[in-house]
Amino acid sequence: HKLYKVLVIGDLGVGKSSVIFRYVNKCFDEKYKMSIGVDFALKTIEWDAQTVVRLHLWDIAGHERFKQMSRAFYKGAMGALVVFDIANRSTLIGASEWKQDLDKKLSLDNGQPIPVVLLANKCDMSEKDEELLASLDNFCKENRFVGWFETSAKVCVALHKGHEQTEHSQV
Ligand code: GDP
Ligand code: MG
Repeated sequence: HKLYKVLVIGDLGVGKSSVIFRYVNKCFDEKYKMSIGVDFALKTIEWDAQTVVRLHLWDIAGHERFKQMSRAFYKGAMGALVVFDIANRSTLIGASEWKQDLDKKLSLDNGQPIPVVLLANKCDMSEKDEELLASLDNFCKENRFVGWFETSAKVCVALHKGHEQTEHSQV
């Protein structure tokens, strides 16, 4: 099966490792910690009746401080998730910095940026900032994200796009 490299980047503590763990193992572990250094996880999905694809998820575990990675890390990725914490505004600024670093170091053969989705994680938390969520459409346009989803590694596998709480997707 074809293996697709997908990057998961964003500031420290936003829930990158937890989102990957939830997606791959369908559960949340409060004490779960991925090892230090770049880390990997594999997820097999049945795209349709004929096609099975394997996602190779790359976690930047331990490299968050500088908001940049090497070209070697980005190389060959077909997409990326940039995660931020909806209860922590500074991590959204971090998300734009991560996106800039990625676009500077990696583009498709035709010069276009690779598709990158923004994840507004920890949507289970009561401190959820509606004003912030309302600004995300513009944020995505300005920073060339293809779109955004509200996610929670803690309470659900399904992801909510924007405010359309009924629209579920397995990403
Ligand atoms: P990373 O540094 O981006 O890999 O973040 P982690 O996955 O290590 O998560 C940082 C902290 O946030 C941990 O204590 C997690 O248990 C917690 N966390 C991660 N995702 C969620 C979430 O969706 N909801 C809540 N409430 N906590 C989360
Ligand atoms: Mg981590």
